[in-house]
Amino acid sequence: MSDTKKLLILAGDGIGPEVMTEVRRVAEWIAKNRTINFDMEDGLVGGAAYDAHGTALDDTTLQKAMDADAVLLGAVGGPKWDDVAREHRPEAGLLALRKEMDLFANLRPATCLPALAEASTLREEVVSGLDIMIVRELTAGVYFGQPRGMQTYEGQERCIDTQSYTKAEIERVTEVAFDLARKRNKLVHSVEKANVMESGIFWRGVVSDMHKNGGYSDIELQHMYADNCAMQLVRNPKQFDVIVTDNLFGDILSDCAAMLTGSLGMLPSASLGAKDANGKAKALYEPVHGSAPDIAGQGMANPLASILSFAMCLRYSFDMGAEADLIENAAQAVLNGGIRTADIMQKGKAKVSTSVMGDSLLREMDKLA
Ligand code: NAD
Repeated sequence: MSDTKKLLILAGDGIGPEVMTEVRRVAEWIAKNRTINFDMEDGLVGGAAYDAHGTALDDTTLQKAMDADAVLLGAVGGPKWDDVAREHRPEAGLLALRKEMDLFANLRPATCLPALAEASTLREEVVSGLDIMIVRELTAGVYFGQPRGMQTYEGQERCIDTQSYTKAEIERVTEVAFDLARKRNKLVHSVEKANVMESGIFWRGVVSDMHKNGGYSDIELQHMYADNCAMQLVRNPKQFDVIVTDNLFGDILSDCAAMLTGSLGMLPSASLGAKDANGKAKALYEPVHGSAPDIAGQGMANPLASILSFAMCLRYSFDMGAEADLIENAAQAVLNGGIRTADIMQKGKAKVSTSVMGDSLLREMDKLA
């Protein structure tokens, strides 16, 4: 008997609905050809939710997200909502979702398929075949630490943010990184600024203790300062396997790693929460890119980042590594065959629309299955 997984699809704004249409087709292909069923339900988030309900995430949708086996999100935001109050902005819906689901580990792979290596701003030999995973802590650190905001100090206005991490917050994200490395090349770089920050010294100590006492002696651990890591990412990115870091450094370093690969339209991500008693973790999968208002509604968007996010969902939420490989290999085959959306267009290749990219991927999946 096939297993049924509940998927909540939050297409969001801009190109979100366009790319999620293609994700749905891939999910339907998997359900048809494998012993799994998807109970797919749609919901509103971001500007679309604000237009319908006056809030970027309503309680009903949040509850559905909490109850789902996985949430698949498109993108939120756009100029239409620029004048909306801060707490109702489209991005507030996404932040609330991440916070309420306690999605503390953000996984951002940066892979550079050889077919796209020349689209990178770096030399082809530096990035071709790149395959690294950045694990960013997502629910603590300076983006959430208290106190924060404006104060008067010695008669002067000043503004502060607070970097704050508990031992448990560092341990749980480190555990995710070590577990991932175990299935990859068994190398973890832990990144902070222990040379100048107290919280960096603490981070380094907690990660070292986890490595020593947590049963991870098969994993190689290296510590690196964040500024050096930024430099090493553009100098020799292939030296990395898994990078684990805090919220702020992770935000910056993962964008830097994203650029190595050439296109935002190719980059997936996963955000995972803690495992429950049955070993199941709350999870949200979304492309790294935004709602791309400049191309929305034109059938030009590259759906691969969202489709590859669904592949991550199969791998990390449903333990379907073979099916995830199938989707990733099909994407590679499509690109090797010269099919391109506008964002990754190269001379001599065939420029196709969002839906034709979806058709091409499904055709490759048929061939590879
Ligand atoms: P963006 O990622 O939406 O777009 C940046 C550039 O990349 C644009 O030129 C766009 O056309 C292109 N692009 C992005 N995704 C693409 C795809 N799949 N295929 C082809 N081209 C693609 O970033 P932005 O322009 O800075 O932001 C636009 C809106 O998206 C803003 O409202 C921003 O707040 C929001 N945003 C949302 C998320 C999210 O939902 N997670 C992330 C980033 C930005």
